[in-house]
Amino acid sequence: MTARRALFLDKDGVINVDHGYVCTPERTDFIDGIFDLCRASTRNGFLNVVVTNQAGIARGHYAESQFLAYMDWVRSEFRKRDARLDAVYYCPHHPVHGIGDYLRDCECRKPKPGMLLAAQRDLGLDLGGSILIGDSGSDIGAGEAAGVGTCLRVAAIMDQATMRPAFAAGTLQHVLTLLEHDDARPADA
Ligand SMILES: [Mg+2]
Ligand SMILES: [Zn+2]
Repeated sequence: MTARRALFLDKDGVINVDHGYVCTPERTDFIDGIFDLCRASTRNGFLNVVVTNQAGIARGHYAESQFLAYMDWVRSEFRKRDARLDAVYYCPHHPVHGIGDYLRDCECRKPKPGMLLAAQRDLGLDLGGSILIGDSGSDIGAGEAAGVGTCLRVAAIMDQATMRPAFAAGTLQHVLTLLEHDDARPADA
């Protein structure tokens, strides 16, 4: 069996607009196109894997249990739209501002590759055939350190036609093309 490929997604700035420490439905503005993207990746045999630094936990802005409940809600919002998030990896630590046990120079906080390597082990992923989408240099750094084959830095913009947050023109199409490339299609899809 061929190893599975992942579409790794940063959360804040890729799935939702980064308003800073977003951990409630009220502050969650999904970025237009994210559901299309996840439906396309599933259709092409990829697993959708969230990899997110959650310094908000480290700093005590919200509890780990609150974040987990919130991510259950996010996943249910995806399901409502026939899209799925297959796994969520998060780093609750911070090397300087962490409180208590969260004060740690860990191996999971991006740009370190710990979350990606854990996903690789847990899910049996082909990292070289995988794609990572992030909006910051630390996302790309983590992807490159883990050996993810394609790492794309994207920017969410305000679409002037819809007045909704969206990916810059061409970004979505580019990722869809990568997902639909023949090499990325498993034999049993
Ligand atoms: Mg981000
Ligand atoms: Zn960590």
